[in-house]
Amino acid sequence: MPLFQKAVFLTTVAHLRDLPQDAVREIAFAGRSNAGKSSAINTLANHVRLAYVSKTPGRTQHLNYFTLGEGKYFVDLPGYGYAKAPEAIRSQWEGLIGPYLGKREQLVGLVVIMDIRRPLTDLDLRLIDWFRPTGRPIHILLSKADKLSRQEQMKTLRSVQGEIATWGDAALYSVQLFSSLKKTGVEEAEGVLAGWLGIEFKKQENKGPPDKGGPGAKMP
Ligand code: GDP
Repeated sequence: MPLFQKAVFLTTVAHLRDLPQDAVREIAFAGRSNAGKSSAINTLANHVRLAYVSKTPGRTQHLNYFTLGEGKYFVDLPGYGYAKAPEAIRSQWEGLIGPYLGKREQLVGLVVIMDIRRPLTDLDLRLIDWFRPTGRPIHILLSKADKLSRQEQMKTLRSVQGEIATWGDAALYSVQLFSSLKKTGVEEAEGVLAGWLGIEFKKQENKGPPDKGGPGAKMP
């Protein structure tokens, strides 16, 4: 059973003053537009269209909160990288995202989703360089891994591992392969996020067929 089975949309936050007041842990998801962030959140939440809520009008530039079964939050940050007036980017960053990432006490870690074919772009690095001084962990998902051969996947993974090894405290930074399409890397990601959230999580030893008639059951 997936870790975050019961994720549901909670709220959209456009102003710092509207952040949820509860003292529950939350994990933020960031990435360039089109990197596969919504798909990754949907995959981790085991919910086909959950994170597409973030793409509806009025919500794309804000923080979108999803509540997890265990009473923890996923926070979907606006995708970056599309041409936008510098003034608009600055005001969004200074007014909401910057202070949120820098000061939110409940935030226990940042997941950065990168298309495996374009990892560590300038904007990714700007976000990461900005977040590192908080001393909180960063986990990178190299998404759409299915787009590359196994050999190319491993080459990119090693190259990103080499880069993050230069960031200092190895315990804080990690990277993995991920595919929402093929559902690969899900357990590895769940293990990292569960650790951040303080949830006990055991990898499934036996990947046998799902229960008869269950939602994931396949016809013979
Ligand atoms: P977002 O803008 O970062 O939220 O990206 P989306 O999750 O909306 O994905 C952008 C595009 O990439 C969509 O066309 C998805 O179908 C596709 N995509 C997302 N994840 C994967 C994946 O794991 N494999 C493949 N092949 N395509 C993916």
